[in-house]
Amino acid sequence: MKISVIGTGYVGLVTGTCLAETGNEVICVDIDEQKVQRMRKGEVPIYEPHLDILFERNIKAGRLKFSTSLSEGLDHGEIIFLALPTPENGDGAADLSYVLGVAEEIGNLITDYKVIVDKSTVPVGTADKVKKVIAESAKCEFDVVSNPEFLREGFAVDDFLKPERIIIGSSSEKATELMKKLYKPFVRSGNPIIVMDERSAELTKYAANSFLAAKITFMNEIANYCEKVGADVDQVRKGMGTDSRIGKRFLFPGIGYGGSCFPKDVKALQKAGREKGYDFKMLDAIIKVNKNQKTILLPKIREYFNNDLKGKTFALWGLSFKPETDDIREAPSLAIIDHLLIEGAKINAYDPEAMTNVERLLGNKINFGSSMYDVLQDADALIICTEWSIFRTPDFRRIKDRLINNVIFDGRNVYDLQDVEKEGISYFSIGRKDIK
Ligand code: NAD
Repeated sequence: MKISVIGTGYVGLVTGTCLAETGNEVICVDIDEQKVQRMRKGEVPIYEPHLDILFERNIKAGRLKFSTSLSEGLDHGEIIFLALPTPENGDGAADLSYVLGVAEEIGNLITDYKVIVDKSTVPVGTADKVKKVIAESAKCEFDVVSNPEFLREGFAVDDFLKPERIIIGSSSEKATELMKKLYKPFVRSGNPIIVMDERSAELTKYAANSFLAAKITFMNEIANYCEKVGADVDQVRKGMGTDSRIGKRFLFPGIGYGGSCFPKDVKALQKAGREKGYDFKMLDAIIKVNKNQKTILLPKIREYFNNDLKGKTFALWGLSFKPETDDIREAPSLAIIDHLLIEGAKINAYDPEAMTNVERLLGNKINFGSSMYDVLQDADALIICTEWSIFRTPDFRRIKDRLINNVIFDGRNVYDLQDVEKEGISYFSIGRKDIK
């Protein structure tokens, strides 16, 4: 099939590449000329495991092409995916200007039947808005489908190739059949393609993300309470997770959720609810708890250093909002860095993939090291913000040799308490006893 994808970020590029992998002819369109030039040279502009192999293979096969021209994309594809940003606007609502702006151009440019697919996460009613905007100028038939994306950064290729389910929100039989045909190779193992109306599809995405944010946030609150009463959240987590109604996943406490989705999606649902006179009280609590959780390590750090962080140097492991991505949007590391800098501390950070993005954001406000051990040299303490695998089994001797104080503040519970205790390291984590 001939497919076009508008917007080549984490979602668009993975979508385009994976659809090319199943034999479709794909053109990816982006407004960012530099990005398109890099992709044309064979460079993957984001870090996403396994994407490079598929990317290269499909470019070589001539199935994956890039353009800055929307009209070229619209001429090419029968199915047009919109994978455009829907960031938070100033007041919590999703900013639809990218999606509706492109929809307006689509109306002016299409000359034959197209299925316009909303892959961006958009509030309920957006498919109707997109339809209306396109219809104002379109001179041919078209359908608008809502097809929210559930991929996780860090596992995006796997998630796209083997989705647990595909949601198609559509009121057109013709468009639904084309979408089913396109996705057939991805559901060979029997996972469902669930067809529903557009509004339900749009809400499914917000409901899923808000539920996951709630699950993490609930565990973070349990962890905070564990510290007050001397319980160990790791034990509680294992005990709870064996209940199949609860499940083992998404129960790991830490310094809060970040990323480009949960924070903005929870807020957008809350805002959309208010606009309809519905007050999501749980969402209010999730937002409040998560904001506080991002800096939950700071009181422990301050107490250890007698409330004087001025001139102290902190080694910081992990900048991305989670492992296996270079995405730093709403990353808890940034909240911690902000506070430490205000209090006069210095930071030496290391992250396997996200340092370039943080450097772009913070310039020389913090230092970056070339290895995880490099940043420890003469630092007063180590703070862990992201649970990258390489941090899991470190050489504790090298940590102790380099740090001024043998102390780790771990926002992701990366180590077993017994292991660090054996090493004679002071260790402060989330929802577990402090080792002083
Ligand atoms: P992103 O910011 O990584 O990428 C968006 C891309 O769109 C950029 O490359 C940008 O240059 C391009 N763009 C902007 N305006 C354009 C225009 N007029 N024409 C062509 N290209 C344009 O965004 P993302 O993380 O891929 O997210 C896209 C959507 O998917 C959002 O709604 C997001 O909520 C949703 N989503 C994201 C994820 C995720 O893990 N990142 C998962 C599921 C859903």
